Amino acid sequence: MALVPTGQLQLKHQRYAHDFEPVDQTCTCSTCAHYTRAYLHTIVTREPAACSMLTIHNVAYQVCTAVMLLSTRALASLVSLRFNRKSDMDSAAMNSK
Ligand SMILES: [Zn+2]
Repeated sequence: MALVPTGQLQLKHQRYAHDFEPVDQTCTCSTCAHYTRAYLHTIVTREPAACSMLTIHNVAYQVCTAVMLLSTRALASLVSLRFNRKSDMDSAAMNSK
């Protein structure tokens, strides 16, 4: 099973036998850089190395997802802080009139 933005890929399913895309086109892990879904499909039930390849991808995917979530939250906090500071400044300006 491989994690992707749309959910999970069950690479043992026959639909991936001729899918020559990486697991996730946006992923920069070594598995996605070097192997196709079709290749992983052929080895996923036979070669223990497939587990390692999918683990490399899944860990990279989760780290990337966590970093994006933290970045989004940090950006939201900065925007909120900036908005609050502007509101405070506007209130101070109105109170001084
Ligand atoms: Zn990957």
